[in-house]
Amino acid sequence: MPDANTTSPPAQFDAIVIGAGFAGLYQLHCLRDRLGLKVRVLEAADGIGGTWYWNRYPGARCDSESHSYCYSFSDELIRDWEWSERYPEHPEIRRYLNFVADRFDLKRDIQLGTRVAGASFDEGASRWTVRTEAGETFSAQFLITAVGCLSSANVPKIPGLEDFEGDWYHTGEWPHEGVDFAGRRVGQIGTGSTGIQAAPVIAAQAAHLTVFQRTANYSVPAHNAPLTPEFKAKVKAGFADIKRTMHSTTNGHPFVIEEQSVFDVTPEEREAIYERAWAKGGLQFRANFRDITTDMAANATAAEFIKAKIRAIVKDPATAAKLSEIDHPYAAKRPPIDSFYFETFNRENVTLEDIRADPIDRITPTGIRLQSGKEIPLDILVFATGFDAMTGPFLRMDISGRDGLTLAEAWEAGPRSYLGLNVKGFPNLFTITGPGSPSVLCNMPVPIEQHAEWIAGCIAHMRQHGIATIEATEEATESWSAEVNAAAEATLLPQASSSWYLGANVPGKPRVFMPYAGGMAKYRGICDEVAAEGYRGFELGRATVAA
Ligand code: NAP
Repeated sequence: MPDANTTSPPAQFDAIVIGAGFAGLYQLHCLRDRLGLKVRVLEAADGIGGTWYWNRYPGARCDSESHSYCYSFSDELIRDWEWSERYPEHPEIRRYLNFVADRFDLKRDIQLGTRVAGASFDEGASRWTVRTEAGETFSAQFLITAVGCLSSANVPKIPGLEDFEGDWYHTGEWPHEGVDFAGRRVGQIGTGSTGIQAAPVIAAQAAHLTVFQRTANYSVPAHNAPLTPEFKAKVKAGFADIKRTMHSTTNGHPFVIEEQSVFDVTPEEREAIYERAWAKGGLQFRANFRDITTDMAANATAAEFIKAKIRAIVKDPATAAKLSEIDHPYAAKRPPIDSFYFETFNRENVTLEDIRADPIDRITPTGIRLQSGKEIPLDILVFATGFDAMTGPFLRMDISGRDGLTLAEAWEAGPRSYLGLNVKGFPNLFTITGPGSPSVLCNMPVPIEQHAEWIAGCIAHMRQHGIATIEATEEATESWSAEVNAAAEATLLPQASSSWYLGANVPGKPRVFMPYAGGMAKYRGICDEVAAEGYRGFELGRATVAA
C-alpha cells in the first residue's frame, strides 16, 4: 500500500509512466525489458486496461476490428491470442490486456489505485518529482504520460442534476456491477459513438428509453459477428501483411483508402459501391473513395446515401427526419458504427427528443423538463456526453515544468506541442498520443506502439550520448502547430463546428484542432526523420545526470 507519509524521500526511478492502458503497458515493456530501465507505472484504477477499465456501459465495444485492435510487436501474441468477434466487447479487451501484462510480467511494476495529483520538474537535478493523491512521491529522469485521450468524463452542467431523485451515470465511469434497467424509464443524453452503441442495448432492457439528441449523427452498420475459424487462421498466417497495411495507411486500419474519386464513377456505380460498403459495414465505409473526407461535394454523396438509409430504416417520418437532418459532413466528427441504432427508434418503448429544437430547461427531481414545458419522467439518467478530450486528462493533474510554468498556463490558448510528444518548457516529459499526434484519428494501438517505440529510441539515444534533457524548441513547436492546422484544413474535419476534435464540446475550452490529421504513415516518417537527424527540433541538454 502507498505510504501516505509525505516526508519520506521520493522513490527513485528512471521513468515514471502514468496510466496502465494500451500505451502504459507497452511503454513499460519497451523501457524495462528492452532498455533495462527502472520503471514504475502509476494507475488510478484498481485494474489495468485504461479506457476499457472505465467504459463498461451497455454495448461498449471497439469500432476497430479486433484483429487490428491489438499489439503488433510480438509474433507470439498474435499466435497465442484469439479474438472471438469482429469487434471486441469491453470484457474481451480487458482479458486481452491482462493476457499481455501476464505474458510480459508487467504487473509487478504497475502500482494500481494510485492517482497522480501532479508533477514538477527540478531543473537542478533534471528530474521530475511526481506526487500522488495519497501523498506518495516519486523521482524520475523521465515522465511519460499514457493517460489516454478520452478519459476525463464530461458531465454537462445542466441545472437540477443535484436534485434528481433517480440514479445517474456517465458512460465513461460505468459501475462494474452494471445497471439494472428492467422496468425503469431511462433518459440518455448524447448520440455520439457511445450513445449510438448504448441506446439499442438499453432499449432492449428498459421499460422506456428517451434519447435526447442535440446533434443528429451518421452511423453505418457494424455487422458484428463471431469470427470464423477460417478468418482467424487467415489473420494469423497473414498478419505480417495486415501490419504492413496498417502502417501504410492514414488511419492505421487494416484497409486501404481507394485511389478513385467519387466523381470517377457514374452515379449508378457509386450507389452500388456504397450499397456494398453498407452491407460490409464498419469504419471502412469512408475509405471507398479518396475524397470523401476532403471534398465537400464528394462527401455529400456519402452523406446523402446514409441519410436515405436512415429514412428507409426509421418508420415514423417525423423521427426519421430528426435523425437524418445532420448538420455536418460525414466523418467530420468521429464516425460511429452501430448495431441496430436506427432500428431502435422503431421500438414502441423508445422516444427521440430533439433538444436542439426544444432544449433541456432543467433536470427535475423526477425527470427532465424541456424549454417548452414538456416534462419527461425518468428513473435513470445516462450521460453519453463524451469527454474533455485530449487535454482534459493532462490538465486535471498539476504539472509544472521549467521556471514553474504550469501546463495549464502553457496551454491557456489551446494545446501546443512538438509532434504531440513533448511540450516546450517541460523537458523529459513525453506525451503518448498527446494533442498534436494522430492518435484519435487512428486505430489507437498503431500510434501507441509507434509513440512508445519512438520514445524508447529517444531515451536510448540520450543514454548513449550522455544527454540529460530533451525539450522541444519554440521554433519546432510553432512549425508543428502550423502543420497540425494545415493538415486539418486540408480535410473536412474542421467543418464540424461542435466536434470534440476542436474542443467545442466543453464550454469555455479553447477552440484548437487537436489531433494531427496528416495521416499516421506520414507522421511516422516525420518522427523517424526527426530521430535520424539527431532529434531535430529538440534542445538536448548535455549535462550528465547524477546516478
Ligand atoms: P461524443 O462523441 O463527444 O458525443 C457526446 C454526445 O453528447 C453528443 O451527441 C453531444 O451532442 C452530446 N452532448 C454533450 N454535451 C451535451 C449537453 N450539454 N446537452 C446535450 N447533449 C450533449 O462522446 P462519445 O460518444 O462518448 O464518444 C467520444 C469518442 O470516444 C468517440 O468519438 C470515439 O473516438 C471514442 N469512442 C470509441 C468507441 C469505440 O471504438 N467503440 C465507442 C465510444 C466512443 P453534440 O454533438 O451536439 O455536442
